Amino acid sequence: MRPITATIHLAALQHNLRRVRDYAPHARTMAVVKANGYGHGLLNVARGLAEADGFAVLRLQEALELRAAGYQQTLLLLEGVFESTELNAAADAGVSIVVHAEHQIAMLEQASLPVPIAVFVKMNTGMNRLGFVPQAFASAVARLAACPQVSSITLMTHFATADEAPGIASALQRFEAGAAGMQYPKSLANSAAILRHPESHADWVRPGIMLYGATPVQSVTAAHFGLQAVMHLQSELIAVQTLPPGESLGYGATFVAERETRVGIVACGYADGYPRHAPGGTPIAVAGQVSKTLGRVSMDMLFVDITDIPAADIGSPVELWGATIPVDAVAEACGTVGYELLCAVTSRVNFKVV
Ligand code: PLP
Repeated sequence: MRPITATIHLAALQHNLRRVRDYAPHARTMAVVKANGYGHGLLNVARGLAEADGFAVLRLQEALELRAAGYQQTLLLLEGVFESTELNAAADAGVSIVVHAEHQIAMLEQASLPVPIAVFVKMNTGMNRLGFVPQAFASAVARLAACPQVSSITLMTHFATADEAPGIASALQRFEAGAAGMQYPKSLANSAAILRHPESHADWVRPGIMLYGATPVQSVTAAHFGLQAVMHLQSELIAVQTLPPGESLGYGATFVAERETRVGIVACGYADGYPRHAPGGTPIAVAGQVSKTLGRVSMDMLFVDITDIPAADIGSPVELWGATIPVDAVAEACGTVGYELLCAVTSRVNFKVV
C-alpha cells in the first residue's frame, strides 16, 4: 500500500465540538459537514460529531447518507433544493432546507409534500451571494409562514467578514432591521463569529472549520483558540538523493543545490491533494523534525530537505500536516486557507479513523 494516510482523530472532533459549546454555551450546534466533511469523510466526521444538534450539508445525497447511517438530528441543505423531486425527497427524509430566493418559495407553494418541511430563510446581509435583501425579508417570511407545506421557520444569514477587520456590526444591523419583530429562532454564526462575536450566537451556531481544528481567522492560530487538528496527513520517504552543489531538483529544475543537499522523496503529490503551488520552503516534518519542501511538487511526489536530519532515510515518517505542522501553516505558505487544503485531499489517500 502506498504509504500516504489521512488519519482522522475522533477525539479531536469531540474536543473541538466541546470548544464550540464553551464559546457558545446557549446555542444549538449545527455542524457543517459539507464537502465530504471538509475533506475528512462525511461519515467519519459524523461519527466524531455524533453529539451535534444538527448537520449542515450541501447535497440531498449527503443528507440521505446521514439519515441512512442513523443520524436523527436536524439536517440542513445549505443551498436548498433545485427541483421539486428533491423537495419531496427532502421532506420525506425530514431534511430541512435553506430558502434563499423567490423561486424556491413558489416551488414550495406549488408542492404537494408527503409531510411539511422545515425551512431556514436566508437573509443577504452583505455577502451578496444567496438570500433575500433585508427589505424583502418580511414578505418572504410571511409567504412561508402562510404556506401549509412549511412546518417551521428559522431565520438565518451568513457573514462575509466575521474573520476580518470590518467584522459583523453592519451585517448584524441589517439582519436585525430585516427581521425586526419576528419571533422565530435564528442562526447566524460561522466559526469566526462563534470565536469572535458572541453577540451573534443566537439559537443555532453553524461551525465548520473550527470543528476540524483549523483556524477561521488567518492572523490567529487554531491552537490559540484551543482547537486540535483532526486530520493528520502522513506519508514516508520512498527514496533519498544526495545532490552535489549545482545539481537541480525536479520539474523545471527550480531548486539548485548551493551546498551538498540530502533530499527525501515523499510519496505525496498534487494528485493526493497537496497543493502544486506550494513553494519551496513550505513547512513539513520528517521523523518529528520540522524541515521544508524543496522545488516543485509533482503529481505523486514532493521533495523535502533532510540535510540536517541525518537519521532520516527510506521509510522515515513524514507529516504533511497534523500534529507538528498545522494545516494553516502550509496554507499560509501557499497563499490560501486551511479550508482549501483539507477539502482538496483526494480519494487516492488512505483514510484511517482512530
Ligand atoms: N454556514 C454557511 C452557510 C456556510 O456556507 C459555511 C461554510 O462555508 C459555514 C456556515 C461554516 O463556515 P466556517 O467553516 O467558516 O465555520
